[in-house]
Amino acid sequence: MFENLQDKLDRAFKVLKGQGTITEINVAETLKEIRKALLDADVNYKTAKTFTDEVKAKALGSNVLTSVSPGQLLTKIMNDELTALMGGEASELDLKSNPTIILIAGLNGAGKTTFTGKLANYLKSKGKKPLLVAGDVYRPAAVEQLKVLAEQVGVPVYANTESKDPVGIAQEGIAEGKKNNNNVIIIDTAGRLSIDESLMAEISEVKAKTNPHEILFVVDAMTGQDAVNTAKVFNDRLDFTGVVLTKLDGDTRGGAALSIKSVVNKPIKFIGTGEKMDALDVFYPDRMASRILG
Ligand code: GDP
Repeated sequence: MFENLQDKLDRAFKVLKGQGTITEINVAETLKEIRKALLDADVNYKTAKTFTDEVKAKALGSNVLTSVSPGQLLTKIMNDELTALMGGEASELDLKSNPTIILIAGLNGAGKTTFTGKLANYLKSKGKKPLLVAGDVYRPAAVEQLKVLAEQVGVPVYANTESKDPVGIAQEGIAEGKKNNNNVIIIDTAGRLSIDESLMAEISEVKAKTNPHEILFVVDAMTGQDAVNTAKVFNDRLDFTGVVLTKLDGDTRGGAALSIKSVVNKPIKFIGTGEKMDALDVFYPDRMASRILG
């Protein structure tokens, strides 16, 4: 991941380090290179510009020009800025309520069902007792897939394949969970291939009738700028509480991680790093920043 960006940053820093004397012009040129690298990595223009403007202001304010190792200092400033841009601290799930209700949203193929299984596995390892609710009324295969994953991680599933009413199923699932003392209820929802009004109306209705404590928006990091646009539409409608970026194990350029937080102002809470049930990591902005900068 981020290989392209990192290569480019390396090259940009080599330019900077190669200078006998570092001037404001050199810094500006380097930052221009960095901005180009960010744009190539699918970071949106506004985010990239804000980032380089901030870095420039800090760099000039901290005497980077006269510093012994300007490259190092600039790297540190960039690292701090990137970390801040991606939310600063890791953002924990709000699990205080009993039961905690978590709604999972996103487009088809984003990795919702896989993430639902992974999240159950993660919460189980933290001593929670999750119940999964199969809320995709359009694809019987999705319900089957959820059952298979639930079996793998050893958690129960509530499904009602007779019903075509996602709100009803979610409510029945919550009642079932309460009856069985499940302290986290995770509702997987239907997706669509692209955003459409009926999907949005339906998931808004599920939200309104279940009052979830967390609404996690799952998005495929490989879709780059589309991921950011989709996040914006879902957030305008659902006001979600966090983002899950999936498929960060491939050669994803990962610009979405930088842009989403600044565009929708919601934290990235988890990253998916593979198809297996344990391929889930809490999102740490500082680790991601170090990884980007190498
Ligand atoms: P849904 O339609 O949103 O429920 O998506 P699925 O959970 O069915 O996932 C779609 C495909 O992406 C499946 O083949 C998953 O195995 C795969 N997938 C999901 N998350 C990840 C991930 O983090 N990394 C990789 N490499 N594949 C993933």
